[in-house]
Amino acid sequence: MYRTHDCGKLRKSDIGSAATLAGWVHVRRDLGGVIFIDLRDREGLTQVVFRPEENAELTKQAHQLGYEDVIQIEGKVVPRAPGMANPRMPTGDIEIVPDKLVILNRADVLPFPVIDGEPANEDLRMSYRYVDLRRPQMSRNLRLRHRVTKAARDFLDEQGFVEIETPILSKSTPEGARDFLVPSRIMKGKFYALPQAPQQYKQLLMVGGLEKYFQIARCFRDEDLRSDRQPEFTQIDIEASFVTPEDIFLLVEGLMSALLRAGRDVEIATPFPRMTYAQAMDQFGSDKPDRRFEMRLVDLAEIFRDSSFKMFRGALDSGGAVKAINAKGFASLTTGQSDDLTEMAKHYGAKGLAMIKVENGEWKSPLVKFFSEAEKEALRSKVLVEEGDLILFVADKWEIACEVLGRIRLRIAEMQKLTANSDQLDFLWVTDFPLMQYDAAEKKWNAVHHPFTRPKAEDLAKLEAGEFGQVKAEAYDVVLNGVELGGGSIRIHERDLQAKVFAALGVSEENQESLFGHILRAFRLGAPPHGGIAFGLDRIVMMIAGEESIREVIAFPKTNRMLDLMSQSPSDVDERQLRELGIKLSEEKKA
Ligand code: ASP
Repeated sequence: MYRTHDCGKLRKSDIGSAATLAGWVHVRRDLGGVIFIDLRDREGLTQVVFRPEENAELTKQAHQLGYEDVIQIEGKVVPRAPGMANPRMPTGDIEIVPDKLVILNRADVLPFPVIDGEPANEDLRMSYRYVDLRRPQMSRNLRLRHRVTKAARDFLDEQGFVEIETPILSKSTPEGARDFLVPSRIMKGKFYALPQAPQQYKQLLMVGGLEKYFQIARCFRDEDLRSDRQPEFTQIDIEASFVTPEDIFLLVEGLMSALLRAGRDVEIATPFPRMTYAQAMDQFGSDKPDRRFEMRLVDLAEIFRDSSFKMFRGALDSGGAVKAINAKGFASLTTGQSDDLTEMAKHYGAKGLAMIKVENGEWKSPLVKFFSEAEKEALRSKVLVEEGDLILFVADKWEIACEVLGRIRLRIAEMQKLTANSDQLDFLWVTDFPLMQYDAAEKKWNAVHHPFTRPKAEDLAKLEAGEFGQVKAEAYDVVLNGVELGGGSIRIHERDLQAKVFAALGVSEENQESLFGHILRAFRLGAPPHGGIAFGLDRIVMMIAGEESIREVIAFPKTNRMLDLMSQSPSDVDERQLRELGIKLSEEKKA
């Protein structure tokens, strides 16, 4: 037996008993002959004290111990000397006086110390991830992840859902991100794709009569680097037959309650409020509104319809919008902050960003001279202008005005630290997304969610009429504090409707057969109505853990450059392996 207790276990009540512990040398302190060791395992720390007068030989051995050596200690639990108890340590009342020390393994000099708090440089942490994982914070995060995942499994199991694995070697279909491809050796020149999500398989499970499916599913997307994305990530993936959006909402609200209870021991308020996509864009300039602060977008078309300010009038005359937000108490922003906001507005496509500062009872802005008294009065009451406020305006196409002010709103919230130290959990459903969006560069319609999403029944005529931009989807997202946790939809289950949507998305009949023949056939062989949703597990755990990056809740993440620094992957492979696959690298790649 390596140990009788873990390192977080021993208390006053154990004084006098014998204990065997095993773990890592967390700290060694040499106090003029007496040696103290904090022995660490995943449960905590226990102090071990070697005194030359009690055991000269052992103390000499202990003198040789280094950080992160792996040792076993056998000894007696004794009270700490009077005044030496450490109330911050659960085991702080006791220490071990050893009569045996076994060195299980020595550790070389470490790349960085195993301590909580400010971590070492991230590349170094990734290169020696197994050392990094010993830090109590990482161990806490991974154990939290386990509890949250288990709560998801338990909850869905209670609701009658069955966990079913779907293939990792699957088929490449154009549905969103770029696929990771896996060459086939048996059929040279052909490729499997790693699943971007088990979307088609889970729908086919519904056709297969399984009715309630879930999976803690690994998904793979070969996307260009965006901060805090991983090429592989985990979803809580759900699909059910004979369901309406209301059934999904109820299920998900129960699931989220279970996860927060397990992960953070809090009860959340349900049902979650709901907002349509159009409302979200109009009032928050985002399809994932952070409602923990107000600063809503206000529409000023009514007020400035006849404005003598060219920029406002021009935008409105050409069918656009004039919108504003009121950053309460932010008239005192610095020139740097103001430049930053203007830069941001331009970056996201606005022609400009107009501002009014309200200071000493005065509206400070070159704009104001263009406003009539009536316009000023209307503005004052519509955006509730008060001393100290900063009013920001964008006049542009509706979409641009919303998006730009939405981003500026978030940036100002950051500058004003509006959500710092908030432990509010603001869940929200966003519904009624558009089904498709036009990509002007590619000159084609793309699915906003994916091509299997069901158009709203009342919009089917618009789909027939080719008014694709007007068709809304039976789709919904769950948002928490301005972060999209997951999304899903009721699906198309009829072959003809699916073919119509594929056609609208520019998938030729030939490609429909070669790429999606399996699902189109299935839809003619008794496919029940069905729908589902999927959540990013990494992101949920990150938020529950209060971490800033999903890398903190994944055991072995890739870096932002998609590298595994520890194993140095991706890596070269043997010429023979390539030959077997029928793959020849171009000269440029070999270099
Ligand atoms: N498969 C979708 C996704 O990964 C979610 C869903 O529609 O269920 O985004």
